[in-house]
Amino acid sequence: MTIPDILSEIHPSWIRRVANSLAHGAGVRENFQEQLERFYSLLKQAVETGDPALMDPILFDWSNAPTQSDLQDGENNISAVLNRMLMITFDLVHEELSGSDAMELIGAILPIFTFSLEKVARYEMETRVAFISNELSGIQNKLERLDKSKSNFISVAAHELKTPLTLIEGYTTMMRDVPGNGQNGHMDLLIEGVNNGIRRLRTIIDDMIDVSLIDNNLLSLNFQPVWIDQLLDLIRSEYDDSIKKRSQILEMRSYPGCDQMLFGDPERLYQAFRNILSNAIKYTPDGGRIIIDGRALPGFQEVTITDTGIGISAEDQELIFEKFGQLGNVSLHSSGKTKFKGGGPGLGLPIAKGIIEAHRGALWVESEGHDEKGCPGSTFHVLLPVRTEPPDPKFAKLFGVEVKTN
Ligand code: ADP
Repeated sequence: MTIPDILSEIHPSWIRRVANSLAHGAGVRENFQEQLERFYSLLKQAVETGDPALMDPILFDWSNAPTQSDLQDGENNISAVLNRMLMITFDLVHEELSGSDAMELIGAILPIFTFSLEKVARYEMETRVAFISNELSGIQNKLERLDKSKSNFISVAAHELKTPLTLIEGYTTMMRDVPGNGQNGHMDLLIEGVNNGIRRLRTIIDDMIDVSLIDNNLLSLNFQPVWIDQLLDLIRSEYDDSIKKRSQILEMRSYPGCDQMLFGDPERLYQAFRNILSNAIKYTPDGGRIIIDGRALPGFQEVTITDTGIGISAEDQELIFEKFGQLGNVSLHSSGKTKFKGGGPGLGLPIAKGIIEAHRGALWVESEGHDEKGCPGSTFHVLLPVRTEPPDPKFAKLFGVEVKTN
């Protein structure tokens, strides 16, 4: 018997057996039977022509048929179906054909099944990869939406808090002006206490607003000539008292190029460097040392702020630049800006990074780890482009930076 004759002979029993074994339920079986007929006829053509690629269309259709829930459950069943078909064919051939016919048929269909299994494995893998990347992009969208609503919440909350704060501020001014208040020194002390609280609250609210401006690419920079050495000197004088109080040593090295003029937003740069320096003071024990140094690079200035403080673990070195990324132990949160380890709302570094990046620069940290006893220290690097003129407003728009040249 020729192979096509053998295939025709076992055709009815093959369809029956495979359908009974693989499809459960009458409705399913009917539909499945149609598919099996299609498969069998393609198998026959493939055997006759010796071209296993003829199986391709049905393999493609079957591999793409799994439903969303099959994919979610990680089911991978077309390969299993093909394997099962092969097993059934072996049994059938063994029972219904003579030894030589059986050998001949198996020899002819085996390469076609091998080809089919490989193809199906590839198609199934492609479907799975497409499904997973689809899921991933869904998750990413969800995360982006969450981050957006977090940023919107910060912005709304900050603006809402500002109004009552202004009211409180107005009332404390009026209280100070109440006739006869001058004789009561105690009252002045109380008002000063309220004012301190107001100032601290205002800083936090301003930080929240800055973070949401940075998040939404709305930070506008006021480009003016800046001299980094003068800027750092100003910040140093702001912290002179705190440094003395903490018996720390602040060493400022004047590196070559630190007196070079560059265009930047002096207020924003001041804010960025202040956030970094106040952290260096905060996270360095009493008696520690802080060194501000730098170097001129082609087209850039790099400022480094090194401390002998508690250091930052490798896993936190990225996290601390994310808003609210490092909240630490809430019980350590303190209102003191330079108190040892006095935690804040965790906005200082994200703002500093946002400001530096809006200048097209970079901010990163190096530290050998976190150790409150060994104090390995940290070095913050600020890389700033040396602009000799304010950026072109047209280009600045492309960067997401609004330019107001004076
Ligand atoms: P905050 O100081 O308000 O908590 P920051 O954004 O300024 O927020 O800093 C985030 C965190 O990074 C801090 O809570 C601290 O854990 C860590 N950190 C920042 N600077 C230093 C430093 N120089 N040494 C050690 N840890 C630091």
